[in-house]
Amino acid sequence: MSSRWHSPRTALRAHAAGPVADFDADGTPGYDGDKESGEKDLRRVGAELSDLQEKLFAQGRSGGERSVLLVLQGMDTAGKGGIVRHVGGLLDPQGLSVTGFGKPTPTELEHDFLWRIRKALPPAGRIGIFDRSHYEDVLPVRVHSLVPESVWRGRFDEINAFEAELAASDTTIVKCALILSKDEQKARFTERVERPDKYWKYDPNDLAERAHWDEYLEAYQDVFDTTDTDVAPWYLIPANHKWFSRLAVARILLETMRDLDLSWPEAAFDVEAERERVAALD
Ligand code: AMP
Ligand code: MG
Repeated sequence: MSSRWHSPRTALRAHAAGPVADFDADGTPGYDGDKESGEKDLRRVGAELSDLQEKLFAQGRSGGERSVLLVLQGMDTAGKGGIVRHVGGLLDPQGLSVTGFGKPTPTELEHDFLWRIRKALPPAGRIGIFDRSHYEDVLPVRVHSLVPESVWRGRFDEINAFEAELAASDTTIVKCALILSKDEQKARFTERVERPDKYWKYDPNDLAERAHWDEYLEAYQDVFDTTDTDVAPWYLIPANHKWFSRLAVARILLETMRDLDLSWPEAAFDVEAERERVAALD
C-alpha cells in the first residue's frame, strides 16, 4: 500500500484528536499526498477492500458469523452520502447493506431507540453502512431536548453495552465522524441553493440545525469522550476535503478488515473426489 500513509487509525482516533471544537477540518493528518494521489490511493484501497470483502462474504456463506459495521455521523453536508457512494461504491453490492436513519417514525418511537438499529444490523458475511445511527439519539435528541437529560445521558452506557454485545457476537464496529468547518458548511449550502443538480439535497430545516452548531459540538464531544472504546472506536475525519474524507474512511475500513485475518473457507466437499468427477465430465 502507499507509503504516503502513516497509521491513519492512530492519527485519526478520537481520543487522540483533542477537543472537537478545535479540530482542523481542513487537515489531512497521517497522509502526505494531495487530491490527485488521494484519488489514486482510493482506487488501490478499493481493490484490496473488495478482496477482503469477498473473503468475508465467502465465510458468511460457509457458516462464519463475522460481519462489519461502519457507522457514519456528521453535521448536515459533511459528506455522509458521498462516503456511502464512493466508499460503499468500492464494494460488491451483494455483500453490502446500507441503512439511513431519519427522524423516527411513530412505530419506531414506540420502541426502545436501539430497536430500529438492531433490525438493520448487517447479517453474517456482510458489511453494513449506517448513514446516521443510534448516535442520533444522543445528538439532535439532546440538542432539542426531545427526551429528559436523565434519559439521553443513560444512553451512553446503553450504547457501550450494545456495542460490546455486538463485538462479542463477531460484528466488527468502526465509527467515523465527519467533521467539517462552519465556513465549509455554508459553502456547501450555497452550492445546494445555486445549482439545480443540488437542489434535491437542500433541506431548509438544516439551517435551523446550524443555529445549534456549538451545542452539537458539545454533544459530539460527549459522544467521543464516553463511547470511543477499543471494541467500537471513533475516528474523527477531517471533511472539508471530500477526497480526503473518502480516502481516510476507506483506509480505516481496510486496516480494520486486515486485522480480521480473513481467509478463504475450507472446501465443504471432498476436493480429490470432486476433481476426478469434474475431470471425467464430457
Ligand atoms: P437526512 O440525513 O438528511 O435524511 O436527515 C435526517 C434527519 O433526521 C436529520 O435531521 C437527523 O438529525 C434526523 N434524525 C435522525 N435520527 C433521529 C432521531 N433518533 N431523533 C431525532 N431526529 C433524528
Ligand atoms: Mg439532510
